[in-house]
Amino acid sequence: MMALEYVCMKPTNSIYSGLPTTIFETMSQLAREYDAINLGQGFPDTDGPEDIRRLAADALMSRSNQYPPMAGVPELRQAVARANGRFYGVDVDWRTEVLVTSGATEALSDTIAALIEPGDEVVLFEPLYDCYLPLLRRAGAVPRLVRLDPPDWQIDPEALAAAFTPRTKAVLVNDPLNPAAKALTTRELSVIASHVIANDAMAICDEVYEHIVFDGRTHTTMMSLPGMRERTVRIGSAGKTLSLTGWKVGYVTATARLLEPIAKAHQYTTFTTPPNLQLAVAAGLDKPDAYFHELVRDLEQKRNRLSNGLARLGFDVLEAAGSYFLVAGYGSSSDEPDTIFARRMTVDVGVTTIPLSAFYETPVSSRYVRFCFSKRDDVLDAAIERLASWRDHQPARARL
Ligand code: PMP
Ligand code: GLN
Repeated sequence: MMALEYVCMKPTNSIYSGLPTTIFETMSQLAREYDAINLGQGFPDTDGPEDIRRLAADALMSRSNQYPPMAGVPELRQAVARANGRFYGVDVDWRTEVLVTSGATEALSDTIAALIEPGDEVVLFEPLYDCYLPLLRRAGAVPRLVRLDPPDWQIDPEALAAAFTPRTKAVLVNDPLNPAAKALTTRELSVIASHVIANDAMAICDEVYEHIVFDGRTHTTMMSLPGMRERTVRIGSAGKTLSLTGWKVGYVTATARLLEPIAKAHQYTTFTTPPNLQLAVAAGLDKPDAYFHELVRDLEQKRNRLSNGLARLGFDVLEAAGSYFLVAGYGSSSDEPDTIFARRMTVDVGVTTIPLSAFYETPVSSRYVRFCFSKRDDVLDAAIERLASWRDHQPARARL
């Protein structure tokens, strides 16, 4: 047997080496291990539209499978430009202002790599989607966090104003906001925009849930506000808009001056995205209004189903204005930190959630967990049943 050689090398990059596996992956693994119903990671458990999947399958056989154009196939760039006009009245030149990426995650990575210089300040809101801080830190940015708290996730105007300085390069806004399920009002967006403009900065807008807003709301894109067209990078994803999260097809809309360097970052990251998926997504974005209404109606009904069930069990269910998620509190029954509660729910009850504290950089003592409701009705009902039977076996004092 060969003796093991001890190899002493220089350390790997400290930003990524120091990070744990994401909470989504961690909780999904735990769900698999304990055969729990996974209401943690955000993905639908049914597939997106059959005609769109059929188009992708057909394109795989009938169209080229070699590198498509770096910026994306013309069909999809044109469809993204059309969608900007159709949904938000924003006029977009598909040749110079649209880039296709491998998911919104790649779009965020390219955008941050292309726009941020070491030492630039970037304003962003807690709770945060998981990739924002690692990507910003890898780019050398200085994050300036504005914290929103449950139950109402209000933006404190003074905290917001204090986060912006002359060194602010950009604000990163996720709207609708995962995990808070908050849809920013036009007024809130306008206040953020006024700080961006006053500091001559940019807005990076993660709008992956743009089409998933409930109760008659309509989504406003920051890009459509006065003075923001030239300063906004708008990011969308077919994952959410077409319920095809595994495809990882994203798209960026930005003025040519901003899009050019973003495309350079894309060129050296993935360079392209599978052509058959791009062609199918192009058709998906052109779907009639009825498709988008049905998407909202279906998810709104699922939100109601889960939130009514949880409320009946005594959870403190917060308003969910958009996205795949709702946040619910269990503080009236347990003082456990949310990480322990979420683990115990998976192991003992068989229902997996995501602890809210995982979305905060600053310490929080949360008694809230995030539930994903983009699941089949029978799956949501089974989760409620498991929670109900668990609750019935709790001592009265510990009931929700
Ligand atoms: N941003 C937010 C807020 C998300 O919830 C997600 C996950 N869907 C992404 C970005 C990543 O999107 P994609 O899967 O297209 O990379
Ligand atoms: N966006 C998904 C969520 O919030 C997770 C995607 C991922 O695991 N990277 O649950």
